[in-house]
Amino acid sequence: MKIAILPGDGIGPEIMKQAVKVLNVLGERFELETADVGGAGYAGHGHPLPASTLALARAADAVLFGAVGDYKYDSLERSLRPEQAILGLRKELALFANLRPAILYPELAGASTLKPEVVSGLDILIIRELTGDIYFGKPRGVRECPDGPFKGEREGFDTMRYAESEIRRIAHVAFQAAQKRDRRVTSVDKANVLETFQFWRDIVTDVHKEYPDIELDHMYVDNAAMQLVRAPKKFDVLVTGNMFGDILSDCAAMLTGSIGMLPSASLDANNKGLYEPSHGSAPDIAGKGIANPLATILSAAMMLRFSLGRPEQAERIETAVKAVLAQGLRTADIYEPGTTRVGTDEMGDAVVKALA
Ligand code: NAD
Repeated sequence: MKIAILPGDGIGPEIMKQAVKVLNVLGERFELETADVGGAGYAGHGHPLPASTLALARAADAVLFGAVGDYKYDSLERSLRPEQAILGLRKELALFANLRPAILYPELAGASTLKPEVVSGLDILIIRELTGDIYFGKPRGVRECPDGPFKGEREGFDTMRYAESEIRRIAHVAFQAAQKRDRRVTSVDKANVLETFQFWRDIVTDVHKEYPDIELDHMYVDNAAMQLVRAPKKFDVLVTGNMFGDILSDCAAMLTGSIGMLPSASLDANNKGLYEPSHGSAPDIAGKGIANPLATILSAAMMLRFSLGRPEQAERIETAVKAVLAQGLRTADIYEPGTTRVGTDEMGDAVVKALA
């Protein structure tokens, strides 16, 4: 099994080192190959997604990605900025389904900004469509406004659109994921205002006919945002479009106390995937040895489950993470008085020890 290891920038290399340590003690014969991406790709090869890195990602069975981005690249033209690497990989590998579990381990209930009774034991899965919607719709741009009260002024515009097959395939991902969980799907839309999302609702309802064992409900995105902070535990699987999913998944991330705990998977139609922590490159703490590596380690667990057919190894890692939390070990982002503060390396070592 060949795994492309793309550490990236900022804390990326520090957290990736921990995930690699974990993969190396599982007793599997993985072939791990590392390549530059993001700012490191630009610095070494003149492009955030060098051709050699893309070729490796294509050839591998799965991609484990750290994080990209650094303020020092902010003045580059958009196509050369580090963040283009992740957009390029999603597009080139046709990764249309983004899975983000938001799990709050009972030991971390106090780390959330919400009351412990609201979030303790939270276990929801947000599925975001990743390659369509207003982020990719055309036409888009800035033009002279052709009509209406602002005629003749400059205006910015984007196009929200979803093809039927795009909605069908993400709906299937959601219903099938729910079959492995609590068998409930909430489809989030804005059908009361947007044609695109009335269409979304109609198609999701149609696909649901193939899954009589799953309970489906529909919710407007504004209500979903409210319910996520009011009573998040009532959700099981939440499926939505690219833009709503972008916003809601970050909101759900904070329910769990720290973005440093949250893994994610982006899958293609054959379950080949790119796995990465939900956070960015955190330049503010890069090089200090204090970043939380657990989101990356848990991303490696998702990779074993979804792309590499090793669910038992995924479970071993998840159990080891629970064990180190139960021992009271905490990186700075999840530290509370009465627990033991550890650095990035120590946290990685503790997971390795718990695995043994
Ligand atoms: P960020 O997620 O990097 O950081 C937000 C905050 O969370 C910071 O205070 C950071 O210190 C903290 N944080 C993040 N990960 C952490 C971890 N593992 N342990 C402890 N604390 C952690 O978001 P940002 O600051 O908005 O962006 C920084 C850079 O990352 C930007 O260049 C941005 O474009 C990029 N970015 C990349 C990705 C990606 O690679 N997929 C995603 C989001 C942002």
